[in-house]
Amino acid sequence: MIALPPGSTIGIVGGGQLGRMLAMAAARLGFKSHIYAPEADSPAFEVAAAHTVAAYEDEAQLAAFAKAVDVATYEFENIPVRTVEFLAQQIAVRPGAKALACAQDRLNEKTLARELGAMTAKFQAVDTLAQLEDVLARDFGVPSVLKTRRFGYDGKGQAKIFNATDTKQAWAAMRDAPSILESFVNFRAEVSIIAVRGADGAFAAYDVTENEHRDHILHRSVAPARIAPDVADNAITTARAIAERLDYVGVFAIEYFVVSENDRDTLFVNEMAPRVHNSGHWTIDGAMTSQFEQHIRAVAGWPLGSTELKAAGVEMINLIGNDILTWPDIAAEPGAFFHHYGKKTVRPGRKMGHVNRLLTKRPE
Ligand code: AMP
Repeated sequence: MIALPPGSTIGIVGGGQLGRMLAMAAARLGFKSHIYAPEADSPAFEVAAAHTVAAYEDEAQLAAFAKAVDVATYEFENIPVRTVEFLAQQIAVRPGAKALACAQDRLNEKTLARELGAMTAKFQAVDTLAQLEDVLARDFGVPSVLKTRRFGYDGKGQAKIFNATDTKQAWAAMRDAPSILESFVNFRAEVSIIAVRGADGAFAAYDVTENEHRDHILHRSVAPARIAPDVADNAITTARAIAERLDYVGVFAIEYFVVSENDRDTLFVNEMAPRVHNSGHWTIDGAMTSQFEQHIRAVAGWPLGSTELKAAGVEMINLIGNDILTWPDIAAEPGAFFHHYGKKTVRPGRKMGHVNRLLTKRPE
């Protein structure tokens, strides 16, 4: 494809902090951004040249949006696949509908990972309580984890099962939605890889990142992850295979569990995000090219940027809910890179900002 020149307009579907940081990176490269989101107070609107407030199903507004932009992307994977398919009739959408459809369904994601030779937790689709009880008794045992196939994030739409009482409760929590039962993975760490595939098929990956969650929400990421080089290489090989299979263009993340047996680590694919990812926010200050610029480069058909670290290591801490009130301390800290998402109301569990710090030593 021909690279879009500066001055072109990138359409971004979804208006959260990811859209905001994408628009900021786009502006630096001379692009304009047009954000499409249903919420009138979307954080991305303030930093974009144009925005549309409309439902993801509003075809008249989607058609007008497609006319106004030179290429489109999305920052949120729970938009309807139909929205992307509709836009794609008028304009290039990167990544495409195939990647979105796969990443929206945990069953498809894990099936693809297995097909490509990667490990995952044992899994089985379940659609009724009777089927769940049967699969648990016959095959899975406890503990197991039940998740809705679609629309789960930050631990929402999932329940652990330890015994028969939990089974009924867990099923009730899924509200009859098609679900997936997974064996419980005894992992020693959680890591993710942020990678990018260009419009020409070029591929690059950042250092593997180690992630710590609190209350099911990402709390801290550090890079490089404390895993052996050959294990990190496996994470990259799997990511590349998945991207190639999905004809992926743009930045994406794969989250893995690190399972240790006899001092040997194995990676289990947990899930894929077809977008820039919270565990890649450290790249803004810690890598030669941020994940946001990288995504804009890929979407615009530009060459990919360098994914090299700028320091021995980098850490990112999320500022969740009231954590954001500590901003004066962070502002006073030499070397702390402060990021505020411009959200007007603080709510418990809401991602309000983050702080990046460069490390003088590789994490040990
Ligand atoms: P997910 O929504 O799939 O990213 O899961 C959220 C968190 O729940 C993960 O980061 C893990 O900490 C935990 N978790 C999810 N699936 C499993 C599993 N099969 N075994 C153990 N822990 C899990």
